[in-house]
Amino acid sequence: MQMQIKGGRVLDPGVFDGPADILIKDGIVAQVVPLGANGQTAPAGTTGGSGERIIDARGMLVVPGLVDMHVHLREPGQEYKETIDTGTRAAAAGGFTSVCGMPNTSPVNDSISVTRYILEQAARCRRTRVYPVGAVSAGLCGEQLAEFGDLKAAGAVAVTDDGRPVSDAQLMRRAMEYARGIGLQVISHCEELSLSGGVMNEGVVSTRMGLPGIPNAAESVMVMRDIALSELTGSPVHIAHVSTRESVSAIRAAKARNTQVTAETAPHYFTLTEEAVKSYDTRAKMNPPLRTAADREAVIAGLADGTIDAIASDHAPHARVEKDLEFDLAANGIIGLETSLALGLRLVGAGALTLEQLIALMSKNSAAIIDKPCGLSAGQPADVTIIDPEARYTYRATQGRSKGRNTPFDGWDLKGRAVYTIVDGTIVFDLSEEI
Ligand SMILES: [Zn+2]
Ligand SMILES: [Zn+2]
Repeated sequence: MQMQIKGGRVLDPGVFDGPADILIKDGIVAQVVPLGANGQTAPAGTTGGSGERIIDARGMLVVPGLVDMHVHLREPGQEYKETIDTGTRAAAAGGFTSVCGMPNTSPVNDSISVTRYILEQAARCRRTRVYPVGAVSAGLCGEQLAEFGDLKAAGAVAVTDDGRPVSDAQLMRRAMEYARGIGLQVISHCEELSLSGGVMNEGVVSTRMGLPGIPNAAESVMVMRDIALSELTGSPVHIAHVSTRESVSAIRAAKARNTQVTAETAPHYFTLTEEAVKSYDTRAKMNPPLRTAADREAVIAGLADGTIDAIASDHAPHARVEKDLEFDLAANGIIGLETSLALGLRLVGAGALTLEQLIALMSKNSAAIIDKPCGLSAGQPADVTIIDPEARYTYRATQGRSKGRNTPFDGWDLKGRAVYTIVDGTIVFDLSEEI
């Protein structure tokens, strides 16, 4: 089985940027052939035989398969919100060749059997790769550590209690020590529960709306705690969904001390502010909440200077009945797999990031945090995303592949989208077949 991706702008962050053909053989990148000044392919050894698929990528951007390290696939147990089938369909359509599945399923992924079940379902779907993330604590109860060794052996790439914090600092310390010993990443949902009883950002807007607020400190105190625990234990920690300027400052200072702290943010935190909830729009309700313009600017600065390593969607599908409620009663979270890339490209369009930075934030950097291969060098698994950076369209959540419709970006005019998503040399999404 052979495939050629011809004539695109190949952008492999830190390695290559220019017009090139990519030759794929048996699911592996066989060769990247830079094109001459006249745009002609080097003749030797690249002509196809029968059974070869040739993709015309002229005008397209060809990048390492995108990786979303924070996705709630909801299966097992909450298939009415999303399944591994619909979630990986949405991921592939969004350009993602790999996603990390969060463990707050039902049952919780704190055991070999649930991790294996997720991997089996993903293998059956044969689309985007799914890397299961196990729980830090058994049942997400925050009391006893899960069996990290078993989770790792079954295929988990990280552990987290995401959806809730690990409130007990001693438990988090032991989690970091245990995880480091066996090469698992610890992902921290930073939220000090004694401060976070509200339903939106705490400030002028929440006061005016009469809604209880969540201060920035509810996040940043635990970011600072986990940095301290990482330094105490000499273990890596990854901070999920950074939303505040104080968190960005703390991570920046920690990195200046050569700590093993990494961080992600989500597109909504660099795109929206608390203004989005002014009409009591529950589609903009999430945890951590949308913050102020100053926080948004700090998050963007953190992406630009490398303080924040990765962009992850925190894709969190919910059923309509869980969102069509009064603001304080509605569920937290929004879907994001099918808008993440275009929202990232807005930052490039605005000059806040280079294209190379954005692609690194959405592919190689995320893969490095979970210790997975990523890139277009010869010998790598052929996970490739082909992007039309100029495609303009109106995003309609109802036309999405996710079961969830809960997104504040419904109806937005976007630019840039995946046209092919390729995993192990197999096309798992082809936009031309869907329109
Ligand atoms: Zn979280
Ligand atoms: Zn989450």
